[in-house]
Amino acid sequence: MSHFTYGIPILEITYIVASVLFILGLKMLSHPLTARRGNILAAFGMGFAIIATIAFHKKDGEPIGNIPWILLAIIIGTVIGWFIARRVKMTAMPQLVSFFNGMGGAAAALISMMEFPHIRPEFIAEHGMANGHVLAILLGLVIGTISWAGSMIAFGKLDGKIGDMRIKAMRYVNMIMMAIIVGLVIFIMTRNVTNSSELSAFVYILFSISLVYGVLFVMPIGGADMPVVISLLNSFTGVAAAMGGFLYNNQAMLTGGILVGSAGTILTVLMCKAMNRSLINVIAGVFGGGGKQGAEVTGTIKEITLSDAAVLLSYSKKVVIVPGYGLAVAQAQHSCHELDKLLTEKGVEVRYAIHPVAGRMPGHMNVLLAEADVPYEMLVESEEINPDMPSTDVVVVIGANDVVNPAAEDDPSSPIYGMPIVKVRDAKNIIVMKRGMGKGYAAIENLLFFHDKTRMLFGDAKTSLQNLINEVKNL
Ligand code: NDP
Repeated sequence: MSHFTYGIPILEITYIVASVLFILGLKMLSHPLTARRGNILAAFGMGFAIIATIAFHKKDGEPIGNIPWILLAIIIGTVIGWFIARRVKMTAMPQLVSFFNGMGGAAAALISMMEFPHIRPEFIAEHGMANGHVLAILLGLVIGTISWAGSMIAFGKLDGKIGDMRIKAMRYVNMIMMAIIVGLVIFIMTRNVTNSSELSAFVYILFSISLVYGVLFVMPIGGADMPVVISLLNSFTGVAAAMGGFLYNNQAMLTGGILVGSAGTILTVLMCKAMNRSLINVIAGVFGGGGKQGAEVTGTIKEITLSDAAVLLSYSKKVVIVPGYGLAVAQAQHSCHELDKLLTEKGVEVRYAIHPVAGRMPGHMNVLLAEADVPYEMLVESEEINPDMPSTDVVVVIGANDVVNPAAEDDPSSPIYGMPIVKVRDAKNIIVMKRGMGKGYAAIENLLFFHDKTRMLFGDAKTSLQNLINEVKNL
């Protein structure tokens, strides 16, 4: 397709500019200092691509119609998206991301549902049904629908509305459903028809099975394994959108989809590594996690007073802070940074241990601490900081639980067994700040809190930190 305006292929040029903006934006997202600008840049790219498509795209030499309807849909979508994004709490971000990801999948599936009946009889007469165009439609339908249904279930789980449903036979049900989906795609593509409408019923069946598969695929996944599935669903949406790019020969859609698909896949692989799970387990929808209690609790809970904590921290050489989901709930990132500055002024070396799945979304702690202007150099990946733990005087665990749970190393019966953790118990002293004895996302007991070296500072993280800061100042 060529769309020349005054001899200039304006649409193609805009799509290339948009693609470049997507790539630059994605690159900038990889560092907290540039992430915000990267996001805006990529959004501009998408804006350009949309405006150019509306203004310059031609189908069979005709401009695209229904412009008022398209504009109305864009306005409604923008207002709703803007409103939700402004109101959402930082801790509810993962649900929102999951929801928006699901909308992307649904859009890709809708494109396929709309385009299948539009396959022209002349096209079928010339190419048959077994061709790339039909395959792109069917794959967009299957992958988009699975991503939509799965993301909605993930949304419900992250929001605490849906619990885990783990039945052993589900693994086989999922495999059978996947085989049926593949069989149906092959069936549709190999039919000898003159008009695609003869196969409409099969397309609806394909849609329905994909929908159920999406639900069943995410239903058994829970506990500490959600990050992997969220990023996998994200990559599905990207691939489904790329199918739309193939269909419409739209370079911006293709690049955008491929970028989301490949970035999501890379993140999935990294998450799998961080969680010590194999990708095949994720795809079969069989991993464990959540609910079960592992080893028996031994030892007692010991508390620490604010003044003792202040003295311990102020006279230490090396302190490591381990932030977790509770820090985000308490919105204590600014107080946390105030404490690290205060200790640094006293000559203490302070660093943060960042676990890849701390919080509720990939990079949650990085975003949170960047918001409070904590220098990026102070953040160290848990894998990298673990060898330094034995020489660390005090580890302060703030609102983290699963990511420091030694059951991951000690207890083969634990649902989080095998997940790499921040090796907090190797440090000389451990202070844990949390409100009470509440469990973490994986809903299991944490023996670290009963460890000899551990002392608990109970209370909301922000209040405790502010009180601690006052104590340190008064020393
Ligand atoms: P956890 O969810 O394991 O634990 C958080 C702890 O914070 C709770 O035990 C709670 O205890 C405490 N807490 C809650 N509110 C406050 C508050 N106001 N002040 C002080 N403490 C508070 O968090 P982690 O970060 O350690 O682990 C993240 C978990 O979430 C992992 O299991 C991970 O797999 C999962 N997950 C991660 C995602 C990601 O992408 N990062 C996505 C989805 C799930 P108490 O109630 O006693 O205060």
